[in-house]
Amino acid sequence: MGKRLLEMCVQIVEAQASAGMMSTEEIEHSLKRIYKVLQDLDALEESGAGLEEIQTVGEKKEPPQAATLGKGPYESIGEHSVVCLECGAQFRQITANHLKSHGLTPREYKKKWGFRLKDSLAAKAVTRSRSEAAKARGIPENLKAYQESRKKKSP
Ligand SMILES: [Zn+2]
Repeated sequence: MGKRLLEMCVQIVEAQASAGMMSTEEIEHSLKRIYKVLQDLDALEESGAGLEEIQTVGEKKEPPQAATLGKGPYESIGEHSVVCLECGAQFRQITANHLKSHGLTPREYKKKWGFRLKDSLAAKAVTRSRSEAAKARGIPENLKAYQESRKKKSP
């Protein structure tokens, strides 16, 4: 510290002195008080701990995602095909069985490549026709929820 700290100190007191009427005694008192505070801050800064604490507050580090590597996970999903990001093979839909060959569950696959868990690993056209069918009839994806609701309703 030393010079830099002293300069900061003088600047603060100068600002205070010019802002209002201050006696020499008051200026001297202020100078000592501020110098002490700055000294404490400087010590904190030099220890490193305080500074790190300040920097991490409100500045959470984002975990690295596939999107930051240039290719977003959603680029693997085309209109009529979906590319397996593990092996590059194309499918209408990536099945749990296929992911098994990579030692992954669909959930692990989505997590690894930055998909949301509710995303379906199928070509857009497949997902669309399926969700249309879902609205029309009620299908496997909704089956669980359907069964849940039945359970609640039945005595
Ligand atoms: Zn694959």
